Amino acid sequence: MTIATIDPTTGEMVREFAAHTPAQVEEILAKADAANALMAKTTFVQRAEWMRRAADLLDADLEHAATLAVLEMGKTIGTAKYEVTKSANGMRWYAEHAEGYLAPEEPVPAASVGASAASVVFQPLGTVLAVMPWNYPFWQVIRFAAPALMAGNTGLLKHASSVPQTALYLGELFQRAGFPEGAFQTLLIEGAAASALIDDRRIRAVTLTGSVGAGAAVAAAAGRNIKKSVLELGGTDAFVVMPSANVARSAQFAAASRTQNSGQSCICAKRFFVHADVYDEWLEAFVAHMAATTYGDPLAEGTGFGPMATAQVRADAHELVADAVAKGVTVRVGGELPDGPGWFYPATVLTEVTPEMRIFREECFGPVACVYKVTSIDEAIAAANDSDFGLAAGVWSADPDEIARLQAELEFGSVFANGNSASFFGLPFGGVKDSGYGRELGSFGIREFVNAKTVWTA
Ligand code: NAP
Repeated sequence: MTIATIDPTTGEMVREFAAHTPAQVEEILAKADAANALMAKTTFVQRAEWMRRAADLLDADLEHAATLAVLEMGKTIGTAKYEVTKSANGMRWYAEHAEGYLAPEEPVPAASVGASAASVVFQPLGTVLAVMPWNYPFWQVIRFAAPALMAGNTGLLKHASSVPQTALYLGELFQRAGFPEGAFQTLLIEGAAASALIDDRRIRAVTLTGSVGAGAAVAAAAGRNIKKSVLELGGTDAFVVMPSANVARSAQFAAASRTQNSGQSCICAKRFFVHADVYDEWLEAFVAHMAATTYGDPLAEGTGFGPMATAQVRADAHELVADAVAKGVTVRVGGELPDGPGWFYPATVLTEVTPEMRIFREECFGPVACVYKVTSIDEAIAAANDSDFGLAAGVWSADPDEIARLQAELEFGSVFANGNSASFFGLPFGGVKDSGYGRELGSFGIREFVNAKTVWTA
């Protein structure tokens, strides 16, 4: 895969980058290794000061950073600015909360384990490799980097090959803010090279956000080397609409969820299960919202959504739609590959989706919704859970008992009721089944890459 900025709006090559040579990779690894000793001697107060300074630098670079995201992966300028600001605020969150999240604990009275003192302290693991995707090119990286650095680890970023300028910017940000040289660096290498790097003894752990295939490759390398791994993978998230739901509002939120980031969000709703009592009304409203959400120039005000990030991602999404069309799906809106430059794809709604169609099971990383009619809550739960993935689900109902049951029985890493799924600084984020394991964000995220060390004294 070429490491390059290719503008998704035009399809034109902007800038190509040479991958780091083995000698450069070695230099970066050695610097990270040396930085661990320095980081281990720093205090939470010191790291928080650097982290806040990095957040301020990112805020000051808002226009530049947001424009980079538009140029490299095609999101709209408004959403790019939102993402950059969210990233800076996420850094501030961990600057403020890391020490509390990692405060020593005394889980049992010392005397009960025959000690005069017994506690758990949380210490950094060392260098953590982060393999990241292009879809939220700032936020995905920051939600790893902020807790990892605040815990006292060092980080190596292997970003997606399609966002090298964002990767290089982030590789310099933390050092500009005062973190020791080598505390956070970018590696310009291809995916397979990242998996091979896990064999190096200086890498202590790895986190990957991306596809199931890449996750399996990284997890295999981590397993072979007895190294901790966290995987945030794909999703075919369910959105359940019960008869008591606010039909107008849920249809509007559904369209917003499915088209956000041009449909390239792991936690946006992809499969919609609508109760028969409100199906026709809901479908009509949903299709109208999807049809009204149009693509266009990501730099222009008011654009619904931009192009898809790469030619490959668009081709993959359209292949799933074409397969469904060939097998008799009903296309309510969209579904056609547009002519012209750029990797645009229309908001698309499919009904009468059957298990023979690939899109019934596979994740479609584009603005394509599959709507199913269900006749009971049991059927909705069974259908939503009939998936290899389990990242996030949405449920819409006015009945608290119904909501409680759906939140209890849906097999996902999170279940949002009457609102769209999202990531929050203080709440854990992650999935079950093929959506991965481990958690990011909140106290759970920062505890993934620490040694929970028991210290016991007679
Ligand atoms: P991808 O191909 O898996 O790429 C993600 C990252 O993995 C990139 O940096 C990529 O590098 C790297 N990679 C690819 N093959 C690898 C290998 N064999 N070993 C190590 N690293 C490897 O994913 P994508 O298609 O770009 O991204 C979309 C996927 O990510 C979707 O499935 C989406 O649902 C998932 N995602 C999940 C979350 C979450 O939080 N759960 C968030 C966002 C996206 P190259 O670019 O160099 O190939």
